[in-house]
Amino acid sequence: MRKSHLIKPVLGSEYPVISHGKGIYLYDKEGKQYIDGSSGAITCNIGHGVHEVAEAMWNQANHVSFVYRSQFTSEAAEQLAEKIAHYAPGDLNSVFFVNSGSEATETALKVAIQYFQEQGDMTKTKVISRWTSYHGITLGALSMSGHKLRRQRFAALLEDFPAAHPPYCYQCPLKETYPGCGVKCADDLESSIQAIGPDQIAAFIAEPIIGASGGAIVPPDEYFGKIREICDKYNILMIADEVMTGMGRTGKMFAMEHWDVTPDIIAIGKGMSAGYTPMAATIVSDRIMNVIEAGSKVVMSGHTFSANPQSAAVCLAVIDYMERNKLQENAEVMGQYLMNHLQRLQWKYPLIGDVRGKGLLCGIEFVKNPITREPFEITTKVTDRLLSICLDNGLLVYPAVGGVTGFSGDSILLSPPLNVTKEQIADIIDILDQSIGELTTQLITEGLYITEATS
Ligand code: PLP
Repeated sequence: MRKSHLIKPVLGSEYPVISHGKGIYLYDKEGKQYIDGSSGAITCNIGHGVHEVAEAMWNQANHVSFVYRSQFTSEAAEQLAEKIAHYAPGDLNSVFFVNSGSEATETALKVAIQYFQEQGDMTKTKVISRWTSYHGITLGALSMSGHKLRRQRFAALLEDFPAAHPPYCYQCPLKETYPGCGVKCADDLESSIQAIGPDQIAAFIAEPIIGASGGAIVPPDEYFGKIREICDKYNILMIADEVMTGMGRTGKMFAMEHWDVTPDIIAIGKGMSAGYTPMAATIVSDRIMNVIEAGSKVVMSGHTFSANPQSAAVCLAVIDYMERNKLQENAEVMGQYLMNHLQRLQWKYPLIGDVRGKGLLCGIEFVKNPITREPFEITTKVTDRLLSICLDNGLLVYPAVGGVTGFSGDSILLSPPLNVTKEQIADIIDILDQSIGELTTQLITEGLYITEATS
């Protein structure tokens, strides 16, 4: 008889049991130390074991942990919404709390459709997106996700929302070269809108920097300005999925600030609670809220735990910690420092095709041939191998595979907590250097990789 309790991501695999964490370090029950080089899933932005957050959790629990949102509100939830609205750009002044990034993007989808319905426009029900994107795992969010590997199994249940090519200069799907291309990938959105029909489309959703499906793919500077113009031209709302990039990760509170572009809706999650509680949010502009308030007055979404006071108190403590320790500023400075080191590694290892990112959201793409940019075969499992070598060597990095052309592409994300120091980055780079060296040897030994030195 099978003894099965906690369902792990890969059945039958062993996972270290973590006993505690402090700062950028995690420790398993055997006492082994791991550097959290990815903040888990780009989540633990303030590091582990922050006492002030535990204290805020305790204090709120001693007052009240749960009230239901249709019966009561709480000071913690009101203050958190005000704080987020304060940081959000333009007229994005209203905040709807949910429990995960998937719920935040799915709420954005619903709000966008509702915005048009309230005005009597019933045909605008699609939210289009790009290939090489990830917006979450629930069916609505997955419908928007251009992540082939994650869609594959449920394809029959999903809407075909991914329509446009991504701004992926290193492996341009349009086979163009920047800047000569004139950012054709943005024009591709316009062609998709015309093909589908603008009267069918409520919104366009995009990650400012493509994360889980591509490995910190940063668009050309002109890209989002053009996208904003196209959305306005066709009366389509613009949703920024900042679940990974938001809350200071890229050196700005919201990554869209890098290009001075204001979306109509922003989804956040992950770093908002820094992993201390499940919490996410959809931030909505006055333009949209005014219409809903003049109409049905009800945002048709919500969960039992939405606006949970316990979680709100935790998020307030996380943001307070970020502000006091200037973590957004540190992300910018340390991000540049990390990027310089990654560029040095790129010179050393020809299988590093590209290094990219902003702030402390950095990506490395591995290729078989740095001249032709030919990817490794998926069966070579380069990313899996590297993850496992890094783990053995005491470093966590995050896989970003499966979302690109077909199922190929090997990328990782390096995204330590935002309070990482220069010395700690040097340690991360040492382990990464050693691990990529081991990976190279492993691939050559198995005849899966030929470098100039061995050819
Ligand atoms: N959106 C983006 C950009 C993400 O990176 C993720 C998760 O990786 C999600 C949405 C989904 O968030 P969650 O896993 O919290 O549901």
